Amino acid sequence: RVVNFSAGPSAMPLEVLMRAQSELVDTNHAGMSVMEMSHRSKAFEDILENTKHLLKKVMNIPENYKILFLQGGASLQFSMIPLNLLQKDHEAGYIITGSWSQKALKEAKKVGQTTVIATSEGDQFGQIPDFSNITHSNNLSYVHITGNNTIEGTRFTKLPKTDAPIINDWSSGILSEEINVSDYGVIYAGAQKNLGPAGVTVVIIRDDLIGHASDTLPTMLNYETHTKADSLYHTPPTFGIYMIGLMLEWIESLGGVKEVEKRNREKASLLYEAIDQSSLFYSPVKKEDRSLMNVPFKSGNEETDRAFLHYAASKQLVELKGHRSVGGMRASLYNAMPIEHVERLCEAMREFERTIKN
Ligand code: PLP
Repeated sequence: RVVNFSAGPSAMPLEVLMRAQSELVDTNHAGMSVMEMSHRSKAFEDILENTKHLLKKVMNIPENYKILFLQGGASLQFSMIPLNLLQKDHEAGYIITGSWSQKALKEAKKVGQTTVIATSEGDQFGQIPDFSNITHSNNLSYVHITGNNTIEGTRFTKLPKTDAPIINDWSSGILSEEINVSDYGVIYAGAQKNLGPAGVTVVIIRDDLIGHASDTLPTMLNYETHTKADSLYHTPPTFGIYMIGLMLEWIESLGGVKEVEKRNREKASLLYEAIDQSSLFYSPVKKEDRSLMNVPFKSGNEETDRAFLHYAASKQLVELKGHRSVGGMRASLYNAMPIEHVERLCEAMREFERTIKN
């Protein structure tokens, strides 16, 4: 297998893939695959309950939050959040830190009044903007942040001070570090990075935010539909929910998110050190705001970047091309990536630098 630095869908732990393979035709001794189970069967209900129970345990989710497994990706949440939470005569506050928050804002604008609380667009999103200026909290239905910016490589290390519920698009950060769930009104994430395969979206929502949507809201877009039916209003993404359960068992076997965070910090430090010590590559991201999961770096010369990508691929280090809006390279270091793979990347960067300097 190659070393896969993809931003998502991304590398999964080999142990998890092997276990899924071994259970593919007969899952949990049911005499059939999880893919063949009725979502109304006891066998699947057990899988759903197990996944929910593990997520609650691993993330320390308080009792007054509901866990939902939905479809439509994090992108559908860009609409569901304002459709369910934006109250009449209120505004939805957005902190704009990159392409994904811009997309979230675009959808909210279709629903109602919005306000940009802070943006780092003027700094090419190379940092998290100052958001200490929330002055009109009373009129805000919520404040939306993108906790980790997959494309730009930044991450929030502190939260806005506001009475309004904070909504976190945590697609590329979930399970990568410990957070206090009760600091948020809603946390949502597409699964295809740290959680499991593409096709499931996890939504963790505080009880009191459910049930305020307009009667005209289509049933499938209403959080209440899914909380009342425990994610079984319609056929849920059954295989994905099962895979998230396996991923969570794997995280538990490592020692939980605390241990995973420690490893992630070590991996990220190793790569940032290699970048900062390099005389060829640099990081476009302000030090304090650097992501633990997505690490963009560049040489400043497109031809050199291309040559490096080619060199890396020859060493089985793949999916390192940066997003087209940022350019250069981007290494995504999600939970499944062992530190040895990051060491191989750092070594390749040093070797490449030596080769082109000689
Ligand atoms: N938000 C963030 C931070 C992301 O990284 C992504 C995808 O990479 C999305 C939203 C969109 O997710 P989806 O493709 O599941 O709609």
